[in-house]
Amino acid sequence: MRKRGFTLIELLVVIAIIAILAAILFPVFAKAREKARQTSCLSNLKQIALASRMYSQDYDGRCVPMWTYGPNGGRDWFQYLINPYVKNWQLFECPSLPGAAAYHAPAWANVPGSTPCPNGEPESIRFQSGIGKNWFRNDLSGSDGGYWNDFLKESAITWPSELVEYGDSDCVVMGPQNPTAVQAFLQGTSWPGGYFRHNDGMNAAYYDGHAKWLKPSNGTMRNIYYAAP
Ligand SMILES: [Zn+2]
Repeated sequence: MRKRGFTLIELLVVIAIIAILAAILFPVFAKAREKARQTSCLSNLKQIALASRMYSQDYDGRCVPMWTYGPNGGRDWFQYLINPYVKNWQLFECPSLPGAAAYHAPAWANVPGSTPCPNGEPESIRFQSGIGKNWFRNDLSGSDGGYWNDFLKESAITWPSELVEYGDSDCVVMGPQNPTAVQAFLQGTSWPGGYFRHNDGMNAAYYDGHAKWLKPSNGTMRNIYYAAP
């Protein structure tokens, strides 16, 4: 009897089955990879949160400011201020932000300029590392220059376990600047983020030293305003 091969139809059926399996599995793989990056990011934020508590102990209960003045009026940003407690610039990069690893080199010290976030400025690129600090102003006004100069005291925070100190962002700052932007922030649409890049949520470090994944729809005023009732 003549040995026969596969018919065209049989081959097509096999190929179709493989294609269907691939279509089902590839998004699962991608999701698993993103989950791994999310976990790595959360671990970074946990270390940043602990470093910030150590900073506060050394500075009489003051929280880490957004920045302090460096030589020649430049700004020493929070990464520079707390890096002595972690000694690892890469903690300040979100692994889910493509290219973030390239941004840590300049070390965030004595940076000129007050609006570092827009793309294109040579000195701004270091700020798109993916992790930002809560910049909601203490006095609830919308203008620049408040929160990070006020030197918030840990004892002044009403809900330390709910107040976000650092989180996923597309800038060195994170969160809404003023009350009118709060709703946009909580819905994940304000600039500069919360960037909800980890499975539709963001990682956040809180003022009590813990870190947790946060869904925008679960956000409240206590997450962003230190004196929230
Ligand atoms: Zn992240």
